[in-house]
Amino acid sequence: MHAGAELRLGPTGPVSTPIFQTVAYELPSTAAAAGIFDLQVNGHAYTRLNNPTCDVLEARIAAVDGAPAALAVSSGQAAITLALLNLCQHGDNIVSSNELYGGTWNLLAHTFSRFGIETRFVSPDDPKDFARATDERTRCYFGETLPNPKLQIFPIEEVAELAELAGVPLVLDNTLLPMVCNPLSFGAHILVYSATKYIGGHGSALGGLIVDSNTFDWTRHADRHPLLTEPDPAHGGVVWTSAGSTLDSSLGSSPYLLKARETLLRDLGPCLSPFNAFLLIQGIETLPLRMRAHGENARAVAHFLAGHPSVAAVRHPSLSDGYQADLLRRYLHGNGGPLVHFELNGGQEAGSRFIESLRMIAHVTNIGDVRSMATHPASTTHAQLPVADQLAAGVTQGSIRLSVGLEHIDDLIADLTAALAASG
Ligand code: PLP
Repeated sequence: MHAGAELRLGPTGPVSTPIFQTVAYELPSTAAAAGIFDLQVNGHAYTRLNNPTCDVLEARIAAVDGAPAALAVSSGQAAITLALLNLCQHGDNIVSSNELYGGTWNLLAHTFSRFGIETRFVSPDDPKDFARATDERTRCYFGETLPNPKLQIFPIEEVAELAELAGVPLVLDNTLLPMVCNPLSFGAHILVYSATKYIGGHGSALGGLIVDSNTFDWTRHADRHPLLTEPDPAHGGVVWTSAGSTLDSSLGSSPYLLKARETLLRDLGPCLSPFNAFLLIQGIETLPLRMRAHGENARAVAHFLAGHPSVAAVRHPSLSDGYQADLLRRYLHGNGGPLVHFELNGGQEAGSRFIESLRMIAHVTNIGDVRSMATHPASTTHAQLPVADQLAAGVTQGSIRLSVGLEHIDDLIADLTAALAASG
């Protein structure tokens, strides 16, 4: 709530973070301008690189995860793209969990492969598969803390240990669990978020965030990370691991994010609009309360569905046992998160009837809103996949995904009860 407050400085001392709706900033002198462009002093020159409203959002998410630095960008997809392109070039590879959001899977499997960056997909069920798939051109490990629709918690510590041994950072997408789980405290090095979801919460603005713990030792593994440890012609021959020592705040405390900002954000241009940064700041101020309430409602919904005769199976971490129950306690402090996945006995037709009979819960292929939302993956998000691939992703013809919102639990149960009756 308060992190970055010092950055909203102004003669009138505004309490709410102002929107700095400006593209450019007047430079005090040519010498000062040269200092900014040379990465010697902090400053603002052009909003594609940084903006005071975005600076506050960056400080807030860094504080949430106890990290020294963050970078705000235009969407979750932009965050993942920049986080990985900052480490990899043509000929390199990424070892990634095969349980990913579909957009990320497309990015890695198709778009990155056209850039000459290979992704080796492995199952997080056996963390050692990450090590087995690693070779001398591997530049990072990637996964999602709580991938959907499987909703199986990622084995953070196990894979982080293997990443340290291999000399690569573990990058995790923590979109579903901001403030519920802090993967940095379990050894992950870098986080990405679609801020569009729970960080905003209102479903009014797209945004993405990259958070760097600055705990990965790039110079110790210099041979693997030449993009950070060798002179970079993309910025006047700077060596990023030695850059930024005279800069204050987050700019100077993460060579990794300084490089991402000063080369990839500069060149590819997916900057966050100050207005969207303002909207996301409104969301982050109530994040802990909302995440707790999402988790409680989702748990109650999951337990209600598990006892319903029209429901064949329910997935939610609060229903797990064994190793997953242990991870729920260790990593998520018992909060199983906001998503519930369940399967209707009646297959595709029951799925369609259920969705069409909902009155309060919206039919939307999105997650992370304060409003509850339901999706029938077999006819929407997974419709283009062959049935075998749908099954491998944990989607059956009667599967329903619920993004459980903050409505009163009695209203949620009433809407679900009526739609389940109509589905049979
Ligand atoms: N990561 C996860 C886990 C997501 O669910 C999504 C979007 O649904 C994204 C990334 C992409 O985020 P955005 O839509 O903000 O680009």
